[in-house]
Amino acid sequence: MKYLTEYRDGDLTRRLLAEIRATVKRPWRIMEVCGGQTHSIMKSGLDQLLPPEIELVHGPGCPVCVTPVELIDRAVALASRPDVIFTSYGDMLRVPGSRRDLFSVKAAGGDVRIVYSPLDALKIARDNPAKTVVFFAIGFETTAPANAMAVLQARAQGIQNFAVLVSHVTVPPVIAGLMEEAEVQVDGFLAAGHVCSVMGYWEYPPLAEKYRVPIVVTGFEPVDLARGILKLVQLLEAGRAEVANAYERSVTLEGNRPAQAVIAQVFERCDRKWRGIGTIPMSGYQLREEFALYDAERRFPEVGQIAAEESSLCISGLVLQGRRKPYECPAFGRQCTPQTPLGATMVSSEGACAAYYRYGRQRQAQAIQQD
Ligand code: SF4
Repeated sequence: MKYLTEYRDGDLTRRLLAEIRATVKRPWRIMEVCGGQTHSIMKSGLDQLLPPEIELVHGPGCPVCVTPVELIDRAVALASRPDVIFTSYGDMLRVPGSRRDLFSVKAAGGDVRIVYSPLDALKIARDNPAKTVVFFAIGFETTAPANAMAVLQARAQGIQNFAVLVSHVTVPPVIAGLMEEAEVQVDGFLAAGHVCSVMGYWEYPPLAEKYRVPIVVTGFEPVDLARGILKLVQLLEAGRAEVANAYERSVTLEGNRPAQAVIAQVFERCDRKWRGIGTIPMSGYQLREEFALYDAERRFPEVGQIAAEESSLCISGLVLQGRRKPYECPAFGRQCTPQTPLGATMVSSEGACAAYYRYGRQRQAQAIQQD
């Protein structure tokens, strides 16, 4: 368990918290852009152990949560076709579209299968030549290399009944998008270690300089997070809008160049709509023209015309921008629970609303709702 338990060390975390308390002088709002970090913060109780000057807000770092409702509706339309086997990670099946989710399609007899890798979907395509197998390719830069490899494998093996419904998003453009919004108040960012393991952090210094905001790369365990927050507070208190790496055991400045090359071979940057936020220029990936055969939206162009509506009760867009906490949503823990989710941030295992619910932040909701 080396490299795991040592980063969950309670004494070391407490020492780092004491150092944060000794360093902080002014109030700071810090945003992590990673659902895994959000859950780790809630699970370890770091949000409640930090000094009151530091407020943690949770950004659009959960890939399931930021997938726009139109794409869920397109997935539902594809999965409902008798000539399609629709494959996806399990989390996506419960994300509500404007009328239905993928589970309800499966319950009605649609061929919807949970897979653990795009290569599983490729195998299903090989085994079922009479059907088109569509894989729901969602995620940040972390999942893009595997999805790109699946497309390359399909081409290399001559498998033509395989396609991907692409919903890839990228982190640096959303940080820029948030900083352009007057209502979004963030003093510093924690950058997600797994994304930076792939992409490095060479894209961040221009953002730090342009928006005068420090950014610290950090990991997922309590010691990693406390180290990242300490580094960020040191930069904030010193007035230094710089980028630092507090996850040196996994991340280098240049990142994983072969993985970046695979992404660049198969995908190109495009504008992407983020659920609850809107369209952010050049914030996602789409398949390059030479891979059009594997693009589910080009193969089934009729699914691209679907108009969609969000639930009027759900404020997950504000939660994803750090403008509201989950317990400030009137539906939190009432109409909306993990068993009866109204929005993607309650469905996903990485969603902020699910994290607040799972780790017992309902008391804050009750206090607000009683006021
Ligand atoms: S608690 Fe439910 S309804 Fe409220 S913002 Fe979160 S997902 Fe949406």
